[in-house]
Amino acid sequence: MSYTEEVYARVVAQNPGEPEFHQAVKEVLDSLKVVIDRNEELYRSQSVLERLVEPERIISFRVPWVDDKGVVQVNKGYRIQFNSAIGPYKGGLRFHPSVNQSILKFLGFEQIFKNSLTGLPIGGGKGGSNFDPKGKSDREVMAFCQSFMTELSKYIGADTDVPAGDIGVGGREIGYLFGQYKRVRDLYEGVLTGKGLTYGGSLIRTQATGYGVVYILDEILKAHNDSIAGKTVCVTGSGNVAIYAVEKAEQLGAKVVSVNDSNGYIYDPNGINLEVLKDIKEVKRGRVKEYAERVPGSVYTEGKGTWTIKCDIYLPCATQNELDLDGAKALVANGCKYIIEGANMPTTLEATQYVMENGVIFMPGKAANAGGVATSALEMSQNSMRLSWSAEEVDQRLHEIMVNIFKKVDEAAKRYDMEDNYVVGANIAGFEKVVNAMLAQGIC
Ligand code: NDP
Repeated sequence: MSYTEEVYARVVAQNPGEPEFHQAVKEVLDSLKVVIDRNEELYRSQSVLERLVEPERIISFRVPWVDDKGVVQVNKGYRIQFNSAIGPYKGGLRFHPSVNQSILKFLGFEQIFKNSLTGLPIGGGKGGSNFDPKGKSDREVMAFCQSFMTELSKYIGADTDVPAGDIGVGGREIGYLFGQYKRVRDLYEGVLTGKGLTYGGSLIRTQATGYGVVYILDEILKAHNDSIAGKTVCVTGSGNVAIYAVEKAEQLGAKVVSVNDSNGYIYDPNGINLEVLKDIKEVKRGRVKEYAERVPGSVYTEGKGTWTIKCDIYLPCATQNELDLDGAKALVANGCKYIIEGANMPTTLEATQYVMENGVIFMPGKAANAGGVATSALEMSQNSMRLSWSAEEVDQRLHEIMVNIFKKVDEAAKRYDMEDNYVVGANIAGFEKVVNAMLAQGIC
């Protein structure tokens, strides 16, 4: 058995019931094999991989709060502090009923490599709760956030661990969490990113992940003598990442014909009307179904199936494992040429393999959606310096970071004679910096 296979078998045996975590580890270890084989003796002697797959710390806690009927509710809260070799832990908080330790470990593990790829000094972490903000009143969301932060505040800080948003955690939740941190710790510091502009937030942070996805798409297309203008694009999801991916793709001349949510999908052959989408999702916190009621010519279909729509470019921006093998086959059959992951691990391992074997250019989320965390790190810098940069300045830095990520990924793939294999490129480029830092810091 090779070293990577041994470590994968150990992960499966020692972390039972954590399929998402196994999947993320497998994807990374399989593609690192070429690098590991070249340095096997050193890495084995230092147990580098065994250390890499074990979180430095997992914090798990009770979150009691009172709902609007006066009933006491109890949720689970977590923070996974996965790896601090290159900087303080950094990664989002997810509030969604599906949240469990496996999902947060997969996200925290991916975050290590993503953060490394940004070139900024940030380690990997992730956290969240099985709390569902959907359908809750503002007061209930605040009560939950205050209880969650009362416990979490003991473990985070501007120089130790800096959480941000993710699914179910946007500006409203970050505001309540920040208020409670300040209250219980009596510290006004940049402990969270994604804050409002009046209290330390950065311009462009809201747009950053979606814009970054399209900036890297633009680089990929240029590298293949192609361009975004005139392309038909399918986006999945209709949350933060999806909305700003739609916005930037439309700005660069593409026609985006679909968005979805967990109930169903929209097909709009005239191109998604962003004003209507933002009003439904950002202002009214409604469902995409309402889009078809407001925009003539668009169609709403209940259930899954965005992949049945013919497109040149597919941007999955909703959640993990949303695109399976059947979906991948439908996309290939319809002539889709590029899949760029806006969400974290939205494509199953089989689907990834299928599309790559069938000529689709595929960029994994850990590279493509790194614009969000990169801009969060820019927010941390502005907080430390007590400065605010203009929107143009932040957007320009974001753009440069995405161009550099593409270069690193592309260069790493070529260095190992695997041109256009961006899965391998992203994992290698992210891994090398973290492992060199771990080796330099000794056994810890
Ligand atoms: P949001 O909560 O803003 O939006 C999530 C979207 O995905 C919603 O449209 C939601 O639909 C849909 N969705 C969630 N779960 C499911 C599901 N099980 N099946 C189908 N659709 C689902 O989250 P974000 O836009 O912030 O995050 C989207 C993805 O991007 C996640 O994978 C996240 O980890 C990743 N990401 C986000 C970053 C950020 O800066 N926000 C940074 C990097 C990665 P519904 O309303 O029906 O639940």
